Amino acid sequence: MQESVVSAHPSVAVIGGGLAGIAAAVGLAQHGYRVTLVEARHRLGGRASSFTDPVSGQWVDACQHVSMGCCTNFAHLLRTLGLDHFLAPQPKLYFLTPDRRVSVFRADPWPAPLHLGRALLGAHYLTETDKLRIVYGLLALLRAKPEADPPLLPWLEAHWQNRRTIDRFWAIVLTSALNETIDRIGLKYARKVFRDGFLRHRDGFVVHVPTVPLGRLYGDELRGWLAAHQVEVREGIAVKRLQVQLQDAPTATTADPLSRSRWTVHAAELRDGTKLTADWYVLAVPFERVGDLVPAEVMEQEAAFAQVRHLSPSPITSVHLWFDRAVMQLPHAVLIDCWGQWVFNRGEVAPGEFYVQVVVSAARELRGAGRADIQRRIVDELTRLFPPVAAARLVRAKVVTEHTATFSAVPGVDQWRPAQASPIANLALAGDWTATGWPATMEGAVRSGYLAAEAILTRSGRPVKLLQPELGDK
Ligand SMILES: Cc1cc2nc3c(=O)[nH]c(=O)nc-3n(C[C@H](O)[C@H](O)[C@H](O)COP(=O)(O)OP(=O)(O)OC[C@H]3O[C@@H](n4cnc5c(N)ncnc54)[C@H](O)[C@@H]3O)c2cc1C
Repeated sequence: MQESVVSAHPSVAVIGGGLAGIAAAVGLAQHGYRVTLVEARHRLGGRASSFTDPVSGQWVDACQHVSMGCCTNFAHLLRTLGLDHFLAPQPKLYFLTPDRRVSVFRADPWPAPLHLGRALLGAHYLTETDKLRIVYGLLALLRAKPEADPPLLPWLEAHWQNRRTIDRFWAIVLTSALNETIDRIGLKYARKVFRDGFLRHRDGFVVHVPTVPLGRLYGDELRGWLAAHQVEVREGIAVKRLQVQLQDAPTATTADPLSRSRWTVHAAELRDGTKLTADWYVLAVPFERVGDLVPAEVMEQEAAFAQVRHLSPSPITSVHLWFDRAVMQLPHAVLIDCWGQWVFNRGEVAPGEFYVQVVVSAARELRGAGRADIQRRIVDELTRLFPPVAAARLVRAKVVTEHTATFSAVPGVDQWRPAQASPIANLALAGDWTATGWPATMEGAVRSGYLAAEAILTRSGRPVKLLQPELGDK
């Protein structure tokens, strides 16, 4: 085997170039580590990335990604990299029902949580009693213990919610935010979504939409920053497995008991047959890949790894449609009583091509339906919602399903999410699925990367705080 040694001490190999790996690389590079970032694909960004459409040559996001005001670590990463100007805040959210009526959701100049009170009262798709029920439910949610995580649906039913408030309020917000249907969600992350997004701070609910494709967002400036900080990016290189060995005489470098671990990584074996060695490693791959890269004996003997097998995926389907004319005026719409949950108006992306994207989160119901069938259902729905669709010509369409889009936020899911400081002495874990206290989001991924970098810095005897305060904690 040929061996390529990562240079000078201290070195770190970050495996996986999604947002978790990027955040870990950024955090460590800023503290003097020589980082090698290894990514299996020929692009950075992981699940938050674009592909080149073979027909048009245009960059198309695998799925529209949005952030929210409460995502402070994601915002911090973008500011650090000089990318924050690519996000457009949406101070208004538009809720659309099949009868084409729209309710505008915007904040009043009152302190949280009163700032959204008038917006809720104005929702045309809820009765006055529904609104009272919702306020009662939100107050009960805030009073719930932060760690309590029973199944949400019975909890809602026990807290005065009816079918309409569940379908038209709770499910509308939570299915998109958690990528899971309301019958499968636990209370803990439902509480987090409403508390952080809507109740705690005036800016938490503001949705931030990238103004460029994700391939552009995580493009030139990111690469420039990484190069300027001596981060070597190796794309199109997959790690086959980590070579882990038992240490003869484990030594504790810090108070962290796991740093006395019996295990150390001594190399990352690459698929091309070469090896990459470093002082430290960050494993930042999706949870379903961990068992391929970590040796079986470690997976079996260390509970932190064994438990990852309990995580299960939830799919997202996105339907991309290019019409020959503008079919909607709103920048986006949150859809009530529809198949799709969000429709994004991306405007005229090429001469005579008006692009809209419909996102169906937790898209299990579409499993088994062919792409043509899904496309037809969504176009029919848009035709009812936006009359100009009927007269427009559909130039192109694409249906993309990510079967393992995110982990499923089922009740008690956090018991299976490992800490970033792993039971292997010189390995940190990163990824939206690790223990971040957040659901699977770009914010969760960035938090995990910062926490992984913190774990390595701590084990090196140089503890540093990278994690940013939550909105309202500043
Ligand atoms: C369809 C869809 C829509 C979404 N919408 C939103 C949204 O609107 N807002 C939001 O906040 N979040 C959204 N998410 C979630 C968000 O994309 C993820 O939470 C986040 O990007 C995860 O980042 P990550 O770095 O943890 O994992 P990933 O992005 O999966 O990165 C892991 C990386 O590891 C690489 N890799 C895997 N195996 C190897 C190997 N053997 N060697 C080297 N590299 C390897 C992969 O290629 C990948 O690039 C969405 C996700 C999907 C799929």
